[in-house]
Amino acid sequence: MNLIDSALDAAVPDAREAMLLLALRRQIAFVRAGVPFWRARLAGAGVNENSIESLADLRRIPILTKDELRSVRPAALLPEGRSLDVAICRWTSGTSGRPTVSFWSDTDWAALAASTARMLGRQAPMPSPIAFNGYSQFHLTGPLYHAALRRLGGTVYDRSHHPEDLFPTLRQMELFDFDTLVLPGRAVRGKGIGLGDLMELDPDLLARHGVRWWIGSSGTFDAESLAWARAQGVESISNGYGASEFGLFSMSCARNPAHYHAGQGHVLVEVVDSSGALVQNGQPGRIVVTHLCGMTDDGQACVHGGTQLLRLAVGDGATLLTDPCECGLTAPRLCNVHRV
Ligand SMILES: [Zn+2]
Repeated sequence: MNLIDSALDAAVPDAREAMLLLALRRQIAFVRAGVPFWRARLAGAGVNENSIESLADLRRIPILTKDELRSVRPAALLPEGRSLDVAICRWTSGTSGRPTVSFWSDTDWAALAASTARMLGRQAPMPSPIAFNGYSQFHLTGPLYHAALRRLGGTVYDRSHHPEDLFPTLRQMELFDFDTLVLPGRAVRGKGIGLGDLMELDPDLLARHGVRWWIGSSGTFDAESLAWARAQGVESISNGYGASEFGLFSMSCARNPAHYHAGQGHVLVEVVDSSGALVQNGQPGRIVVTHLCGMTDDGQACVHGGTQLLRLAVGDGATLLTDPCECGLTAPRLCNVHRV
């Protein structure tokens, strides 16, 4: 499986699933060998890498809840018996309880950045974007978009660390020329600032800067902001969706912005019913995600070496669509994403 090849999202679903299954079995073998927490949990469920013969067999692995995740010391989810390669460490916001932390090795981070670049690249209206990145560098999304845009040959100017009242984002943006703006639609939980907030302060912002591409995340783009951005000359709008434990794992469809194509590979995204089984096309369920792959320099998937999460319920529900999309991608779609 090559994580930098955009054909991965347009492949025949059976062919992609066969590659995901191989990666899954390799990852299960890895955690059984090196992570006592998972060795015990999988043994308790009677699961090993040889007993997973199809993605449907995943239902035998119990769903991990956020409460369970919080009850485990962070290092207990890291592989033992080798020198740890913890390159990136980021915490969740803690909306549903004590924040948790995830660690990525260098090859894990490469996989996440490359997969995000793969999802973004097909929506880029220019070959080498010049971006102002308004996301906080203390959280995951800021550094992730920075890394992904660099992979696309872009130049990225990051917002400073100052609070908004001390050094407003609008004043920072005036210091740069850029054609791509990386910013959420609305500020989340009163932190940072979103395009909707800036729009009220400076109605000609996007047109004056010549912004052609707006990139954001977590379904924060409302219809009013989308229409305003289009009217200001923005040609492409990319809205990523993910979770802080994993980073981005889906991107809005170019044809239907309310649908998110799952970027399978660095992670495995499922929508499951109350029994933990994958739902059928058109059915609602809970979103559960597995850390699946790191990536070597040539894009080939390798084992995920950092925090090991198999089937974590990320706290959201969605309706799953698995039929091919009119945009040309076959990657499964999440729609009607909502908190559960
Ligand atoms: Zn689509």
